[in-house]
Amino acid sequence: MVVADLMVSTVAVEKASSFAEDDGQFLLTPLQDGKKKKKRSSCHQTKCELVDYHSLPNFLKHNEFILNYYRSEWPLKQTILSIFSIHNETINVWTHLIGFFLFLSLTAFTVMMVPMDTTVSSPAPLHLANLTSTTNVSDPLNLHHHGLVTMSSLRQANLTNKIETDQARQITTRWPFYAYLCGAMFCLIMSSACHLLSCHSEHTCYVMLRLDYGGITALIVTSFYPLVYYSFMCDPFFQTLYISFITAFGIAAVLVSLVPVFETPEFRFVRAGLFVCMGLSGLLPIVHKVMMFGDRPEAVLTTGYEMVMGAFYVLGVLVYATRIPERWMPGKFDLAGHSHQLFHVLVIAGAYTHYLAGLVYLRWRDLEGC
Ligand SMILES: [Zn+2]
Repeated sequence: MVVADLMVSTVAVEKASSFAEDDGQFLLTPLQDGKKKKKRSSCHQTKCELVDYHSLPNFLKHNEFILNYYRSEWPLKQTILSIFSIHNETINVWTHLIGFFLFLSLTAFTVMMVPMDTTVSSPAPLHLANLTSTTNVSDPLNLHHHGLVTMSSLRQANLTNKIETDQARQITTRWPFYAYLCGAMFCLIMSSACHLLSCHSEHTCYVMLRLDYGGITALIVTSFYPLVYYSFMCDPFFQTLYISFITAFGIAAVLVSLVPVFETPEFRFVRAGLFVCMGLSGLLPIVHKVMMFGDRPEAVLTTGYEMVMGAFYVLGVLVYATRIPERWMPGKFDLAGHSHQLFHVLVIAGAYTHYLAGLVYLRWRDLEGC
């Protein structure tokens, strides 16, 4: 730690240059010859300036290897408008904001292109991307909605037979997949908001960090839902057991995150460890799935996606916890390329991989039922 502080000081002095944008709202003023500014706010009237790490209040000191371009206790309006300016959180905000819109698009795609139920009387394999919305012939309420109950008795008899056949196959429930998409979107938008707003005040930081951890927990917990629900659709005991376990684990993780000491830098590894444990507990249902359906191509393919997803997440957590690469060259990755930005990209990659696995689960159960 002492060596790290020495490195930070040395690089800070080397970077002791100051420049300003006269016509802009935001001023860039890195450390000046070791003078430690301790002012509480870095704003004067409507102009806000970016400050160095040592000028930050303790609640904003999360990474001593990022030396400059911090916003510190800016008024709310300037804090919100800073989404359009350059500082050391700009890319953190935008990576997950773009990720949020990506998942919003995927959700819209899923709603439009993957019907609530399929006309499973078709013997040919169904390709989800080619499916269009169809009348839900296996749902009596939907039939009623479409006025089909008033059709001729012959056609009604045929439909009744079809309903019985389709109900025997069991309708594939969609909520686990949509729960996952909602969990991913909640995580991404909370993360983006947290990075944008936390600099406003200590209280805002406290609230936003809890929402951020809540979002990560929601992503992890809801990632289990499609995996467990569709893998064990024919085994309600294990389906309920796994879903209950991970949901309880997620609630416990959110409660633990409410303890104030949880957010201190010293607890970085505890935070990362908690999320890793949650993620690793997913190994159990995955191994169980492979044992039950190891000969099925859908099980092999989804497990492959889940392994890739796990690799993205583990790599992301390692980068997050070790703060590579900025620890190797403090100050060189302040604006772009620091660990948290890499972590964000890896989270999106992992979440997208899991979305692809979810599509395979849906196709599997749409075609086979239970
Ligand atoms: Zn983040």
